[in-house]
Amino acid sequence: MKVLENQHAGNNLLVRFNQESSMKPILILAHYDTVFPEGTIKKRPFSVSEDGEMARGPGIFDMKAGIVQGVWALKALEKHGKPRRPVTIVVTSDEEVGSDSSRKLIEGMAKESEAVLVLEPSLNGNLKTERKGVGDIDIRIIGRPSHAGLDPSKGASAITEAARMVQFLQGLNRPEAETTVNVGTIKGGTARNVIPGEAFMQVDFRIVTVEEGNRIMKEARSYRPKDSRVKIEVSGGVNRPPMRKTEETGRLFALAQKIGMEFERDLMETSAGGGSDGNFCAALGIPVLDGLGAVGDGAHSEQEVLDVNEMPVRAAILERLLEEI
Ligand SMILES: [Zn+2]
Repeated sequence: MKVLENQHAGNNLLVRFNQESSMKPILILAHYDTVFPEGTIKKRPFSVSEDGEMARGPGIFDMKAGIVQGVWALKALEKHGKPRRPVTIVVTSDEEVGSDSSRKLIEGMAKESEAVLVLEPSLNGNLKTERKGVGDIDIRIIGRPSHAGLDPSKGASAITEAARMVQFLQGLNRPEAETTVNVGTIKGGTARNVIPGEAFMQVDFRIVTVEEGNRIMKEARSYRPKDSRVKIEVSGGVNRPPMRKTEETGRLFALAQKIGMEFERDLMETSAGGGSDGNFCAALGIPVLDGLGAVGDGAHSEQEVLDVNEMPVRAAILERLLEEI
């Protein structure tokens, strides 16, 4: 195991298994960061229900349990004899915030791999062969501050312009193309009696095609304020490209489905609105099977819950995939 030290986020971990094989490796992706603020574990400590069936705790479903399953899949592999292919495991520290520190590592490992298996969690055990692309835009609106009572005409309100721009951005939604745009945060101004000199907005968008991502960014950048004294700065773009299903992914899913049957699990296929590190790999043309991690519900919420009984089954399915791919 190699610990890749990281200045700006937590360290990333790289594990290589069965390196003697000359075949192309299989890459397993996991992340150990969660969306919860530091200290949440004190308020909501790890617990298992009395009947032993459900476990709770921050990040347990997304995706601590997936990492545990990955470890047990490898232990089983070792016990059953070596797999044909080398296995590379990358466990990252910043998936939930866009994978800035780990993206290069992930892409580098994916490029040399036969297939990528992602241990993201899964509702009902379904596997993901498609994910939407995710983009984010940061907008800074610079107006001119002035006294709201004495000098209103000298001011140019950044908030008024922000309000107009929100309408414009929400208008970029295109349900028929499955494109969604959301202005998620807005702040601005300094005091009640001051014409606001600055406003900020954070926008999230989700796309199925690269073209739609380009359209959103082009529109956002070409927006002009109604008041010409106001300046608008637009930054950001597509963070995770869309993950599209290919023929190879289809074959990978069919294999997983067949393996699922060995354990009496009818694995279904879904596409997800959320992105993962699988998106980066799929964009490089590598087949990706995602959602192979824990079974449960309530990711990113206090209701997060893990189905304990499914853990060994999921680990076994992963192990069989590592043998068969
Ligand atoms: Zn996750």
